[in-house]
Order: sequence, then C-alpha cells, then structure tokens
Amino acid sequence: MKRRQIIKSITLLPLAGGVAGTGLTAAAKAVDDIPKRDILSELGVRTFINAAGTYTMLTGSLMTPEVMEAINAVSKKYVQLDEIQDKVGEKIAALCHAEAATVTAGCWSALVIGMAGVLTGMDSKKVALLPFPEANGMKSEVILQKSHSIGYDKALTNTGVKLITIETREELESAINEKTAMLWFLNREAPKGNIQHEEWIQVAKKHNLPTMIDIAADVPPVENLWKFNDMGFDLVAISGGKALCGPQSAGILMGKKALIDAAKLSASPRSGIARGHKVNKEEIVGMYAALDNYVKRDHAKEWKMWEDRVAVIEKAVKSVPGVSTEVFVPPTDNHTPSMRIMWDPSKVKITKEQLGENLRQGSPSVEVISWEKDENMVRITVFMLQNGEDKIVANRLKEELAKVSA
Ligand SMILES: *Cc1c(COP(=O)(O)O)cnc(C)c1O
Repeated sequence: MKRRQIIKSITLLPLAGGVAGTGLTAAAKAVDDIPKRDILSELGVRTFINAAGTYTMLTGSLMTPEVMEAINAVSKKYVQLDEIQDKVGEKIAALCHAEAATVTAGCWSALVIGMAGVLTGMDSKKVALLPFPEANGMKSEVILQKSHSIGYDKALTNTGVKLITIETREELESAINEKTAMLWFLNREAPKGNIQHEEWIQVAKKHNLPTMIDIAADVPPVENLWKFNDMGFDLVAISGGKALCGPQSAGILMGKKALIDAAKLSASPRSGIARGHKVNKEEIVGMYAALDNYVKRDHAKEWKMWEDRVAVIEKAVKSVPGVSTEVFVPPTDNHTPSMRIMWDPSKVKITKEQLGENLRQGSPSVEVISWEKDENMVRITVFMLQNGEDKIVANRLKEELAKVSA
C-alpha cells in the first residue's frame, strides 16, 4: 500500500475500544490518565527565568492555574462560539464598567476590529467593502498625536484607514473633516503628547466623533481596567497575555455596545477582514478567567512582594564594586517596580549585550533587558518571576558582574 492509502485505512478504523482499552475517544480521556511528557526538553527548547517582562517575543506571561482550569474545562464540551463570546463579553463588561466587551486575538486585533466597527456600524454592505473605505465613500481617516505613532497605530490601517498625525489642539481641530472616522489615543505615550485624555474626548464629543484608547500593557494599576471606560472613551483595547496573565493570543475590546456589536461583524466566525483573528472557546474563557482572577488579586500585597524581590536583587548586585542601581516605576506601561543596573566600564569590563548573553547561556538561563540604547546598563522587572526566582536572578547577576569586576 502507498503511504496515503495506509493513512486512509487507519483513519477509517472504528474507534471503539481503540484507546488503551478504555473505550473513550482521545478527547474524553482525563488529563490524569495520560503519561506526562516533558515536551519542551523533547523539543530541545530553552526555557528561562523571565526577569525582562511581558515581551511578546519572550511569550508574554504565564497563564495562572485559574486560567488553565477554565481552558481545560471548556475544552471538553462543544458550545456555540457566538454564545460563549456574548456571555463572556457581558461578564467582562460588568467587571470593567463597559457597556459591552468581546474577546479578541490580542490587543492588536482589538484595534483592528474596533476600527472596523467604527467604519461600518451594523451595515453588512460596508463590512464587505473593507479594507477599502475611501474608495467606497466611507469615512476613512483617523487622527492621533504624532508622539502616539510608535507602530501600534499600524493595526488601524488594516481596515484601510489613513492615519493623520497632529501635535497641537489647533492642528487637531483643523485636521477634523468629513472623512474623519475616529480619534485614537495611545495611553502608553500620553506623557509625551500635548493633549491629554480628557481634552481628547472633549474635542471628539464636540465634533461627534468616537474615540479609542490602546491600554495594551497598562495594568497595573487594576483601576485602569475601568478608568478609561468611566472617562468616556468609546472603545478600550487591552492585551490578555501581558500582566493579566491570560492566553497570549487573547485580548479585550470593550466600550459602547453599538460599536462592539459592529466590531464583531468583521471578526471570526464571520467572513470580514478579521476572519483570521479567530479566538477559540478556550481563549475566550481563558481571557475571562484571567481578568476575573486579576481583579480579585491582593494588589497591595503583590506590589510589596515585587518591591521585596527588587530589594533582593539590588542588594546582591550592589555588592560588586563599580555597580550601581536605580529603582523606578515606569509611569504608564509595565507600571511595576523595576530596576536599572549600571556599571562603571573602567571597573566592570563587560558590554550589556555580553552580560545579557552570559545570563542567557547560564544555568538556569535568565533573560534581562539587555537591548536598550544606554551602554553599561541592563534593566530588570520582577513581576514575571515565579516565587524564589528573585534569589536565582540575584545570584546569577552578581556572579556574572563579579567575574569581570576589577
Ligand atoms: C503589546 C502591545 C500591543 C499588541 O498587543 P497584543 O496583545 O500582542 O496583540 C498593542 N499596543 C501596545 C501599546 C502594546 O504594548
């Protein structure tokens, strides 16, 4: 028989009694019934202690046991995708003071489908006309501050809109015209812009335009989950796989119900421009479980734990001659206790890249932020560490720095 024929005949064999004599299909077996595998070592994939942060490249964050439990539970049953999305959406909206919400394929996807909803409303003909809004006489421009244009605004252009950047209130007012669809705000760059949140909303309201804010990596503080809904942004987009510790491929779009309903028309399972941004039932409930778990955490206690971890690492590295530290909290994104570790290059002879590489190649492997532009400096965060890893990071950093310290 040819290989293809063999595969075909195997597939046609009756399944009854086929799985280790249990009579169960693979899907119905319990997780505990199957042998444990260490799949990462089978694959030869390096794992590491994450003292860098919620970087997409470093696989974001680790899902909590609550998230895994929810994913596991829902994986055993069929449901209607729209129904689970709607029910979860209601729960998320209630937690975040929004009228409505939907789980998206990450924050980027939330930006795309939110933008699509603004352009189309509930008009299915317009949904089919994306990504060509201008050619079809639809509104086709989005205004944002120049300092907010750092790459994430590109998501909006998936719908076919043109980005118009401005710097002052005057420029904003004069950029608004009959083609303007929305005013977009990037929370992370708010400190660099001339126009702050309230004024942005105020101008939009005056011109009867919707607003959207990207808060992808901007919890903690937990209050940010509802602050921008309360403030009056029509749409709020956040990542699920950063500090919320949900599925890395999930995110949330929340806000005004009419816009959320419209956004869903462009997304999977319908065949709009975002059909490829599919979220499965596991991601949908995983996202909800993560959010619910995040909101209920003891945030003050967690903050104290992070400060303690930073202190452990600071004490160790400062014991090396020529090394100094600076503890700080970034103002908007990744707002958690963080630390810069700096060294006098005449006393500590190593580049940031080499230190990063030595930590990466060490055992256990550790990732720190070794790719920023300042020389003789690496940066760490501690909110992605597991219990006890602060001491390991402290020891590894101290070892590597002491080795090259005069
Ligand atoms: C991470 C990030 C995104 C993209 O989020 P995903 O959840 O990875 O799709 C968008 N905007 C900002 C500001 C981000 O930091």
